[in-house]
Amino acid sequence: MPSRPPTFRPPGWKPPQQRRKEHDKARGSASSRGYDADWRKLRARFLKANPLCCVTGCGERATDVDHEESIRKRPDLRLVWSNLRSMCHRHHSARTARDQAFGRDRG
Ligand SMILES: [Zn+2]
Repeated sequence: MPSRPPTFRPPGWKPPQQRRKEHDKARGSASSRGYDADWRKLRARFLKANPLCCVTGCGERATDVDHEESIRKRPDLRLVWSNLRSMCHRHHSARTARDQAFGRDRG
């Protein structure tokens, strides 16, 4: 990396990476919303173990992993295997839409 010319930095200046991290923490980051690397890994493993939609009679290949207890309600269950359900995209969308319509307390 070529060295940068000196730049004026106001007191309290932080590198962008750190600033972003703190900003994310303050507003509820991607990870607290449930979509960080840990989640993606767990999700992939879960889909491999549960390849079909959990909705009775559906039998479609699952593409989405749903949180039975919503992350909003139970952030502690975000990465808990027993709180997950495989769903096909159609059922997951339907569930998400319905849940959001009803006061956002699930989903
Ligand atoms: Zn389905």
